[in-house]
Amino acid sequence: MTLKKFRLDGRVALITGGTRGIGLAIAHAFAEAGARLVLSGRTLGEEAADSLSDAGHKVDFVAADLADDMGAADRLVAETIARTGKLDILVNNAGIAIHGDSGDFDDERWRRIMSLNVDAVFRVCRAALPELRRSGGGTILNIGSISGIVSNIPQNQVAYNSSKAAVHMMTKSLASEVAAENIRVNAIAPGYIETDMSRGGIANPDWFPIWRNQTPMGRVGQPEEVASAALFLCSPAASYITGEILVVDGGYTTR
Ligand code: NDP
Repeated sequence: MTLKKFRLDGRVALITGGTRGIGLAIAHAFAEAGARLVLSGRTLGEEAADSLSDAGHKVDFVAADLADDMGAADRLVAETIARTGKLDILVNNAGIAIHGDSGDFDDERWRRIMSLNVDAVFRVCRAALPELRRSGGGTILNIGSISGIVSNIPQNQVAYNSSKAAVHMMTKSLASEVAAENIRVNAIAPGYIETDMSRGGIANPDWFPIWRNQTPMGRVGQPEEVASAALFLCSPAASYITGEILVVDGGYTTR
């Protein structure tokens, strides 16, 4: 067993929501490991572009709104192939969170969550599978959440929690369906990670002490701590792992 098994040289990876937070950290880790990258989001943003070029990584960016546009998933995969010639790794990372009590949670917000967190994940997987087969196999990584496993407190977030549980079951179902075709499908369930998504909660004095107390390690995680797990699962080092939901949560779900 050598460290070479953790490298991605010659692989092409598409990362949705690769422009900020966890997705951008995964982009840095994959690029360092030798992968050719295509990142997508609605906008690239100067900070992401600069951080990647400062690190010497040349990546392609394809703009796509995966929530509103039903054809976006197919176009995103087609554009990835047009630019790189193949696809080996898909990371479905783009997602949103909306909090709210169930009694007031209207259909529009429910659909907004499900449309990106569930429907788009399935659509991008469906679009990518023929290309992964054409590459002789490959790997899909979906970003779920501890919220797909436990109902975290104190905020109410029924739609988000339900969407992430769906991502976990989608991961297992797809893994079982395509395992014989040399395609592995896994998920990561992060706990609280410091990004734009969690910043409001971290700053909230009614929420953050509870988040911290519920986390045995007593701190939030950093995007890079999810990225190293992502690199492992998408690398040949994880060649016999499929259908796994890898928890990266500082121990949150132990309680
Ligand atoms: P961020 O809000 O920091 O980043 C979200 C990414 O998704 C951005 O690149 C954003 O780009 C993209 N995105 C948002 N909306 C759309 C859209 N409609 N179409 C395409 N891309 C979109 O989030 P995180 O990095 O925190 O989260 C990444 C994933 O990790 C999500 O699936 C989230 O649910 C999950 N997660 C996060 C946790 C946390 O504590 N941060 C905990 C557990 C899971 P743009 O806005 O330009 O489109």
